[in-house]
Amino acid sequence: MRKVLHTTILIFLLLPLFVVSINAQETSQRQRCHSHENLMHQIAEHPEMLEKMQNIERQTAQFAAEGRVEMRGGQMTIPVVVHIVYRTDVENISVEQIQSQIDALNRDYNKQNSDITKVPAEFSGRTADCQIRFQLASRDPQGKATSGIVRYATTKTKWGATDDIKRTNKGGYANWDPTKYLNIYVCNIGDGILGYASFPSSPAYLDGVVIDYTAFGTMGTVRAPFNKGRTCVHEVGHWMNLIHVWGDLDCGDDYVADTPQQKDANYGNVTTPQYSICSGKTTRDMTVNFMDYVNDDCMFMFTAGQKTRIQALFASARASILNSDGCMPTAPSTCDLGKPTIKDVKSTSVTVVWNEILGMKKYSIEYKLDGTNNWIVSQTSNLSFTINGLVSGATYQCRMKGDCAEGSYSEEVTFKTPTALQTKLSESRSFAIYPNPVVHDVNIMFDVTSDGLVNVQIFDSNGVLKTQVAKNLTKNTPAVSLDLTEFPSGFYLVVAEKDGERSVKKLLKVND
Ligand SMILES: [Zn+2]
Repeated sequence: MRKVLHTTILIFLLLPLFVVSINAQETSQRQRCHSHENLMHQIAEHPEMLEKMQNIERQTAQFAAEGRVEMRGGQMTIPVVVHIVYRTDVENISVEQIQSQIDALNRDYNKQNSDITKVPAEFSGRTADCQIRFQLASRDPQGKATSGIVRYATTKTKWGATDDIKRTNKGGYANWDPTKYLNIYVCNIGDGILGYASFPSSPAYLDGVVIDYTAFGTMGTVRAPFNKGRTCVHEVGHWMNLIHVWGDLDCGDDYVADTPQQKDANYGNVTTPQYSICSGKTTRDMTVNFMDYVNDDCMFMFTAGQKTRIQALFASARASILNSDGCMPTAPSTCDLGKPTIKDVKSTSVTVVWNEILGMKKYSIEYKLDGTNNWIVSQTSNLSFTINGLVSGATYQCRMKGDCAEGSYSEEVTFKTPTALQTKLSESRSFAIYPNPVVHDVNIMFDVTSDGLVNVQIFDSNGVLKTQVAKNLTKNTPAVSLDLTEFPSGFYLVVAEKDGERSVKKLLKVND
C-alpha cells in the first residue's frame, strides 16, 4: 500500500522500534529478520542516512510515476561475494551449499519457483519476474581471479545483528566495494536471528546482508522451516530497498502500490487467509509475499510494484553495480599446475584429480603407456577426470597443462594398473572349497539364499584360465563340481561370479 505523502517516511523511521520488539517476542526461538532494528541502530550512529533515505525515496517515487518499469528490458546481473565466517567445521559450509543459495536467489528473483502456483487467485495477477541474476564474482576488487567465496576463521561464538561482522574494529571483516558487489556474510548470528540486511542508505562500510548459517541455502546446515533459501531472498529484498509489507508499523506503508495495507507481520506456517483492518477497511494480507515473516514454504512472490522499487534503485543509488567488472573473466592466477593425484586405480581406469587454479577455464590431461611417446590428450573444465580404456597390468605416465599461453607441463606422475584378478583378490566368504587340497573332484559350495546363475573359473598361478563352468544354483543344489584329476599339482585360483560380484579363493591341487 502506498500513501501520498513522502514525509510519512519519517514516521516509518522513528516510531517502529517498539513494534519490532513486540514482533520478536512472538517468534519464540527463531527470529526472521532484524533489518529494521539494525536500520534504527545505523541511523542513530549515522544520522546523515536520513537525508540519503529521503533522496532515494524521492527518486523511487519519480521513477514509478514516470512508468519507467522494464526500462532495461533485460536481466540485470549482480556480482556476489560470500564471506564465510566460521568457528567450527559445521559453520564452514560447503561450496555446494553456497551455490544452492545463489540458485535459490535466481529462482525467486526470476519467478522460476515452482510454488508460485500457490499464490492465491486474487494476487496472482501481481506476481513479478524481477529479472535479476546473481552470480558469484570471478574478479576481486584488486582485479584478481576469485571464486567469489572468502573464508575467515574466527573464535567468536556469535556475532549478533548490529553489523559487528563488517566492522574491523570489532573483530569483523571488511566488505568488498559495495558499488561493485553484493556482500553476503554467513556466520553464527546467535539469539535465533536468521538474518539482517543493510538498506541502500547505509554507509558503504556497513553495506551487505548477513545470514545465519542454519538458514543459508537449501542443503547442508539449513534447518526447517527456513530451508528454502528465503531468508536470503528476503534480506536481499531489503538490500534492494524493499520494506516489510506491513511497513514496520501498525498498518504501515511499504511504499509499494500493489501490496495491500497490512496491520502487522504474519508468522509461521500460514496457509489460510489472514485479514487486516486498516483505516476501517478489511483487506486480505499478502502473506505469500517474500517480504512478510512467514515460513519459507509459505512465501512465493514479489509484486510488480516491488519490482519497480528495485528497478528505481538500480537506476539511481545502486546503478554502479550494473557496470561492475566483478563477473568479468580474468586471466588465470597462475599458469603452472601442481602435480596431479591419481585415485581409484582400477585395472582399466584411473581418476586424475588436481587443485583448482582460479580463472583457469580448461585443463588438459595427457597420458601414455610407459616406453612409448604417444601422449593421449583429453580436456575438461572440471577438477577431475577419469581415464578409461587402459590396459590392465601396465605402467603409464600422466601429466597436465592449463589452458594458458605461458603454461608448462606439470610434473609427471607414474601409475600402474593392476591385473584384473588383483583387483578382486580379497578373501571370500561367499563360497567354500571342499576338499582343499584336492586330488580328483573338487566341490565349490555356495551359501545360496536365492536361486541364481554362478560362473566358476579356475586360473593357474600365472593368471591363465584353465577351465570354467556356469551353473544355475538352487538351495537343493548349492555346489559346482569339477574334475581336476588331469591338472598338474600346484596352486590355482578359483574365481566365482554371482549376482554381479566376483570373489576369489586359493585352491591347492595335489597328485597321488
Ligand atoms: Zn526483513
